[in-house]
Amino acid sequence: AAPMATPDGPDAPPEFDTSQPTIARVYDALLGGKDNFAADREGAALYLKYVPDAGRCAIENREALVKGVQYLVRAAGIDQFLDIGSGLPTQKNTHQAAQEINPEAKVAYVDNDPIVLAHGRALLATNNSTIVVTADLREPQGILENKEIQAHLDFSRPIALMIVGIHMHFHDDEKPDEWVRTIMDRLAPGSYLFITDFVDTGEPLQKGMEQAGLESLGNGWIRTPERIEQHFLGLPLIPPGLDFLARWFPEDPEADVPDVDELQPYQRILMAGIAKKG
Ligand code: SAM
Repeated sequence: AAPMATPDGPDAPPEFDTSQPTIARVYDALLGGKDNFAADREGAALYLKYVPDAGRCAIENREALVKGVQYLVRAAGIDQFLDIGSGLPTQKNTHQAAQEINPEAKVAYVDNDPIVLAHGRALLATNNSTIVVTADLREPQGILENKEIQAHLDFSRPIALMIVGIHMHFHDDEKPDEWVRTIMDRLAPGSYLFITDFVDTGEPLQKGMEQAGLESLGNGWIRTPERIEQHFLGLPLIPPGLDFLARWFPEDPEADVPDVDELQPYQRILMAGIAKKG
Protein backbone atom coordinates (compact mmCIF):
# COMPACT_ATOMS: atom_id res chain seq x y z
CA ALA A 1 0.00 0.00 0.00
CA ALA A 2 1.09 3.56 -0.61
CA PRO A 3 2.48 5.14 2.54
CA MET A 4 0.18 7.59 4.29
CA ALA A 5 1.34 11.11 3.52
CA THR A 6 2.38 13.15 6.49
CA PRO A 7 0.28 16.25 6.88
CA ASP A 8 2.13 19.48 7.46
CA GLY A 9 -0.33 21.08 9.84
CA PRO A 10 0.02 19.96 13.47
CA ASP A 11 -3.52 18.60 13.63
CA ALA A 12 -4.15 17.86 9.96
CA PRO A 13 -6.26 14.72 9.68
CA PRO A 14 -4.38 11.82 8.05
CA GLU A 15 -7.40 10.07 6.53
CA PHE A 16 -7.55 11.92 3.21
CA ASP A 17 -6.42 10.82 -0.21
CA THR A 18 -3.43 13.07 -0.50
CA SER A 19 -2.14 11.60 -3.76
CA GLN A 20 -4.30 13.91 -5.90
CA PRO A 21 -4.58 17.68 -5.57
CA THR A 22 -7.95 19.09 -4.47
CA ILE A 23 -9.28 22.56 -5.23
CA ALA A 24 -9.53 23.59 -1.55
CA ARG A 25 -5.99 22.47 -0.76
CA VAL A 26 -4.37 23.96 -3.88
CA TYR A 27 -6.12 27.25 -3.10
CA ASP A 28 -4.89 26.99 0.49
CA ALA A 29 -1.35 26.47 -0.80
CA LEU A 30 -1.67 29.55 -3.02
CA LEU A 31 -2.97 31.55 -0.04
CA GLY A 32 0.09 30.52 1.96
CA GLY A 33 -1.84 28.15 4.26
CA LYS A 34 -0.60 24.94 5.87
CA ASP A 35 -3.47 22.56 5.09
CA ASN A 36 -2.04 21.11 1.91
CA PHE A 37 0.06 18.16 0.79
CA ALA A 38 2.80 17.54 -1.77
CA ALA A 39 0.35 16.94 -4.66
CA ASP A 40 -1.45 20.19 -3.81
CA ARG A 41 1.80 22.13 -3.73
CA GLU A 42 2.64 20.66 -7.14
CA GLY A 43 -0.75 21.90 -8.36
CA ALA A 44 -0.03 25.33 -6.92
CA ALA A 45 3.40 25.28 -8.61
CA LEU A 46 1.69 24.70 -11.97
CA TYR A 47 -0.45 27.79 -11.36
CA LEU A 48 2.67 29.76 -10.50
CA LYS A 49 4.35 28.54 -13.68
CA TYR A 50 1.60 30.02 -15.87
CA VAL A 51 0.63 32.90 -13.57
CA PRO A 52 3.58 33.93 -11.38
CA ASP A 53 1.23 36.14 -9.33
CA ALA A 54 -1.40 33.42 -8.81
CA GLY A 55 -0.87 33.72 -5.05
CA ARG A 56 -1.73 37.40 -5.21
CA CYS A 57 -4.85 36.52 -7.23
CA ALA A 58 -5.92 34.17 -4.43
CA ILE A 59 -5.25 36.83 -1.80
CA GLU A 60 -7.16 39.48 -3.79
CA ASN A 61 -10.05 37.05 -4.09
CA ARG A 62 -10.14 36.57 -0.30
CA GLU A 63 -9.89 40.35 0.12
CA ALA A 64 -12.84 40.81 -2.25
CA LEU A 65 -14.76 38.24 -0.23
CA VAL A 66 -14.11 40.33 2.89
CA LYS A 67 -15.15 43.57 1.11
CA GLY A 68 -18.37 41.92 0.00
CA VAL A 69 -19.18 40.51 3.44
CA GLN A 70 -18.48 43.87 5.07
CA TYR A 71 -20.89 45.52 2.62
CA LEU A 72 -23.51 42.86 3.27
CA VAL A 73 -23.31 43.20 7.08
CA ARG A 74 -22.79 46.97 7.40
CA ALA A 75 -24.67 48.45 4.47
CA ALA A 76 -27.24 45.76 3.69
CA GLY A 77 -27.90 44.63 7.28
CA ILE A 78 -27.45 40.94 6.43
CA ASP A 79 -26.86 38.64 9.41
CA GLN A 80 -27.10 35.22 7.74
CA PHE A 81 -24.66 33.72 5.24
CA LEU A 82 -24.85 30.53 3.21
CA ASP A 83 -21.29 30.25 1.90
CA ILE A 84 -20.96 27.44 -0.65
CA GLY A 85 -17.47 26.38 -1.74
CA SER A 86 -16.18 28.09 1.36
CA GLY A 87 -12.73 26.56 1.32
CA LEU A 88 -10.67 26.19 4.48
CA PRO A 89 -11.59 28.70 7.16
CA THR A 90 -7.96 29.11 8.20
CA GLN A 91 -7.27 32.37 6.40
CA LYS A 92 -9.62 35.32 6.99
CA ASN A 93 -12.96 34.04 5.79
CA THR A 94 -16.65 34.86 5.94
CA HIS A 95 -17.29 34.19 9.63
CA GLN A 96 -14.39 36.35 10.82
CA ALA A 97 -15.32 39.21 8.47
CA ALA A 98 -19.01 39.11 9.39
CA GLN A 99 -18.71 38.47 13.13
CA GLU A 100 -16.09 41.19 13.55
CA ILE A 101 -18.91 43.62 12.72
CA ASN A 102 -21.89 41.67 14.06
CA PRO A 103 -20.89 38.93 16.54
CA GLU A 104 -24.39 37.46 16.18
CA ALA A 105 -24.11 36.97 12.41
CA LYS A 106 -24.76 33.35 11.45
CA VAL A 107 -22.63 31.58 8.88
CA ALA A 108 -23.22 28.16 7.31
CA TYR A 109 -20.17 26.94 5.39
CA VAL A 110 -20.75 24.30 2.71
CA ASP A 111 -17.97 22.53 0.84
CA ASN A 112 -17.70 19.15 -0.84
CA ASP A 113 -14.08 18.61 0.24
CA PRO A 114 -14.10 16.70 3.57
CA ILE A 115 -10.91 18.43 4.69
CA VAL A 116 -12.95 21.62 5.09
CA LEU A 117 -15.29 19.93 7.58
CA ALA A 118 -12.44 18.31 9.52
CA HIS A 119 -10.62 21.60 9.96
CA GLY A 120 -13.78 23.61 10.37
CA ARG A 121 -14.99 21.42 13.26
CA ALA A 122 -11.80 21.99 15.21
CA LEU A 123 -11.63 25.68 14.42
CA LEU A 124 -15.26 26.43 15.05
CA ALA A 125 -15.82 24.19 18.06
CA THR A 126 -16.25 27.25 20.26
CA ASN A 127 -18.18 29.36 17.75
CA ASN A 128 -21.93 28.72 18.03
CA SER A 129 -22.75 31.14 15.22
CA THR A 130 -20.90 29.16 12.56
CA ILE A 131 -21.44 25.65 11.18
CA VAL A 132 -19.60 23.61 8.55
CA VAL A 133 -21.45 21.09 6.38
CA THR A 134 -20.15 18.71 3.72
CA ALA A 135 -22.48 18.96 0.71
CA ASP A 136 -22.31 19.53 -3.01
CA LEU A 137 -23.48 22.55 -5.00
CA ARG A 138 -24.33 20.10 -7.76
CA GLU A 139 -27.16 18.87 -5.51
CA PRO A 140 -28.77 22.11 -4.39
CA GLN A 141 -31.87 20.36 -3.09
CA GLY A 142 -29.68 18.44 -0.65
CA ILE A 143 -28.28 21.72 0.67
CA LEU A 144 -31.76 23.19 1.11
CA GLU A 145 -32.99 20.06 2.90
CA ASN A 146 -29.91 19.72 5.12
CA LYS A 147 -31.16 19.64 8.74
CA GLU A 148 -28.11 21.40 10.21
CA ILE A 149 -28.48 24.26 7.75
CA GLN A 150 -32.23 24.48 8.32
CA ALA A 151 -31.67 24.66 12.09
CA HIS A 152 -28.95 27.29 11.78
CA LEU A 153 -30.40 29.72 9.22
CA ASP A 154 -33.87 31.28 9.19
CA PHE A 155 -35.09 30.96 5.61
CA SER A 156 -38.01 33.32 6.27
CA ARG A 157 -35.50 36.19 6.54
CA PRO A 158 -32.89 37.46 4.03
CA ILE A 159 -29.75 35.37 3.55
CA ALA A 160 -26.62 36.17 1.55
CA LEU A 161 -25.76 33.28 -0.75
CA MET A 162 -22.03 33.26 -1.47
CA ILE A 163 -20.68 31.41 -4.48
CA VAL A 164 -17.23 32.97 -4.34
CA GLY A 165 -14.42 31.55 -6.42
CA ILE A 166 -16.22 28.36 -7.47
CA HIS A 167 -18.04 28.79 -10.82
CA MET A 168 -14.73 28.40 -12.67
CA HIS A 169 -14.58 24.81 -11.47
CA PHE A 170 -17.73 23.94 -13.44
CA HIS A 171 -18.05 23.78 -17.18
CA ASP A 172 -21.03 25.60 -18.69
CA ASP A 173 -22.32 22.24 -19.91
CA GLU A 174 -23.03 21.38 -16.25
CA LYS A 175 -25.37 24.41 -16.08
CA PRO A 176 -24.12 25.72 -12.72
CA ASP A 177 -26.52 28.68 -12.91
CA GLU A 178 -29.43 26.27 -12.52
CA TRP A 179 -28.07 24.94 -9.20
CA VAL A 180 -27.72 28.50 -7.92
CA ARG A 181 -31.22 29.35 -9.14
CA THR A 182 -32.68 26.43 -7.17
CA ILE A 183 -31.22 27.92 -3.98
CA MET A 184 -32.00 31.58 -4.76
CA ASP A 185 -35.62 30.63 -5.46
CA ARG A 186 -35.93 29.43 -1.86
CA LEU A 187 -34.44 32.57 -0.28
CA ALA A 188 -36.59 35.39 1.10
CA PRO A 189 -36.95 38.74 -0.68
CA GLY A 190 -34.08 41.01 0.38
CA SER A 191 -31.56 38.18 0.00
CA TYR A 192 -28.29 38.64 -1.89
CA LEU A 193 -26.15 36.64 -4.32
CA PHE A 194 -22.38 37.24 -4.14
CA ILE A 195 -20.15 35.79 -6.87
CA THR A 196 -16.54 35.99 -8.05
CA ASP A 197 -15.33 34.18 -11.16
CA PHE A 198 -12.43 33.95 -13.64
CA VAL A 199 -12.90 36.32 -16.55
CA ASP A 200 -11.99 36.15 -20.23
CA THR A 201 -11.43 39.51 -21.88
CA GLY A 202 -8.92 38.07 -24.34
CA GLU A 203 -5.73 38.41 -22.29
CA PRO A 204 -2.99 35.77 -22.42
CA LEU A 205 -2.60 35.60 -18.63
CA GLN A 206 -6.32 34.75 -18.27
CA LYS A 207 -5.78 31.89 -20.70
CA GLY A 208 -2.74 30.88 -18.62
CA MET A 209 -4.90 30.65 -15.51
CA GLU A 210 -7.29 28.36 -17.37
CA GLN A 211 -4.43 26.23 -18.68
CA ALA A 212 -2.94 25.85 -15.19
CA GLY A 213 -6.29 24.75 -13.79
CA LEU A 214 -6.92 22.26 -16.57
CA GLU A 215 -3.45 20.74 -16.13
CA SER A 216 -3.50 20.57 -12.32
CA LEU A 217 -7.15 20.03 -11.39
CA GLY A 218 -8.87 19.25 -14.68
CA ASN A 219 -11.07 22.36 -14.39
CA GLY A 220 -10.85 26.13 -13.97
CA TRP A 221 -12.47 27.70 -17.03
CA ILE A 222 -12.57 31.43 -17.85
CA ARG A 223 -15.74 33.23 -19.01
CA THR A 224 -16.64 36.48 -20.73
CA PRO A 225 -18.07 39.23 -18.50
CA GLU A 226 -21.39 38.84 -20.33
CA ARG A 227 -21.48 35.17 -19.42
CA ILE A 228 -20.54 35.91 -15.77
CA GLU A 229 -23.42 38.40 -15.58
CA GLN A 230 -25.77 35.53 -16.37
CA HIS A 231 -24.70 33.86 -13.10
CA PHE A 232 -26.78 36.55 -11.37
CA LEU A 233 -29.99 35.11 -12.85
CA GLY A 234 -31.30 38.48 -14.02
CA LEU A 235 -31.26 39.97 -10.50
CA PRO A 236 -30.07 43.60 -10.38
CA LEU A 237 -26.43 44.14 -9.39
CA ILE A 238 -25.64 46.60 -6.62
CA PRO A 239 -23.13 49.37 -7.51
CA PRO A 240 -20.48 49.26 -8.87
CA GLY A 241 -21.81 46.21 -10.74
CA LEU A 242 -19.53 43.47 -12.00
CA ASP A 243 -15.89 44.58 -12.02
CA PHE A 244 -12.29 43.48 -11.55
CA LEU A 245 -11.59 42.83 -7.85
CA ALA A 246 -9.12 45.71 -7.47
CA ARG A 247 -11.78 48.14 -8.80
CA TRP A 248 -14.65 46.71 -6.79
CA PHE A 249 -15.62 48.59 -3.60
CA PRO A 250 -19.29 47.90 -2.86
CA GLU A 251 -19.20 50.04 0.31
CA ASP A 252 -17.77 52.96 -1.70
CA PRO A 253 -18.90 52.52 -5.31
CA GLU A 254 -17.79 56.07 -6.16
CA ALA A 255 -14.23 55.38 -4.98
CA ASP A 256 -11.43 56.60 -7.20
CA VAL A 257 -10.27 53.34 -8.80
CA PRO A 258 -7.50 52.64 -11.33
CA ASP A 259 -8.42 52.37 -15.00
CA VAL A 260 -8.57 48.79 -16.24
CA ASP A 261 -5.38 49.23 -18.26
CA GLU A 262 -3.56 50.51 -15.16
CA LEU A 263 -4.20 47.22 -13.35
CA GLN A 264 -1.45 44.61 -13.23
CA PRO A 265 -2.22 41.72 -15.61
CA TYR A 266 -2.80 39.40 -12.61
CA GLN A 267 -5.44 41.87 -11.39
CA ARG A 268 -7.45 41.29 -14.57
CA ILE A 269 -8.21 37.62 -13.87
CA LEU A 270 -11.15 37.76 -11.44
CA MET A 271 -14.34 39.80 -11.30
CA ALA A 272 -16.82 40.23 -8.44
CA GLY A 273 -20.45 41.24 -8.16
CA ILE A 274 -23.36 41.21 -5.73
CA ALA A 275 -27.01 41.07 -6.81
CA LYS A 276 -30.14 41.63 -4.71
CA LYS A 277 -33.34 39.66 -4.82
CA GLY A 278 -36.23 42.13 -4.68
N1 SAM B 1 -14.91 30.71 -1.31
C1 SAM B 1 -13.51 30.66 -0.92
C2 SAM B 1 -12.83 31.92 -1.38
O1 SAM B 1 -13.29 32.50 -2.37
O2 SAM B 1 -11.85 32.34 -0.80
C3 SAM B 1 -12.81 29.42 -1.45
C4 SAM B 1 -12.73 29.29 -2.97
S1 SAM B 1 -11.87 27.83 -3.52
C5 SAM B 1 -11.09 28.43 -4.97
C6 SAM B 1 -13.21 26.84 -4.20
C7 SAM B 1 -13.87 25.93 -3.18
O3 SAM B 1 -15.03 25.33 -3.79
C8 SAM B 1 -13.00 24.78 -2.70
O4 SAM B 1 -12.95 24.78 -1.29
C9 SAM B 1 -13.70 23.53 -3.22
O5 SAM B 1 -13.56 22.41 -2.38
C10 SAM B 1 -15.13 24.00 -3.32
N2 SAM B 1 -15.95 23.23 -4.27
C11 SAM B 1 -15.60 22.80 -5.51
N3 SAM B 1 -16.61 22.12 -6.08
C12 SAM B 1 -17.63 22.13 -5.18
C13 SAM B 1 -18.95 21.58 -5.18
N4 SAM B 1 -19.40 20.88 -6.23
N5 SAM B 1 -19.73 21.76 -4.09
C14 SAM B 1 -19.26 22.45 -3.02
N6 SAM B 1 -18.03 23.00 -2.96
C15 SAM B 1 -17.21 22.84 -4.02
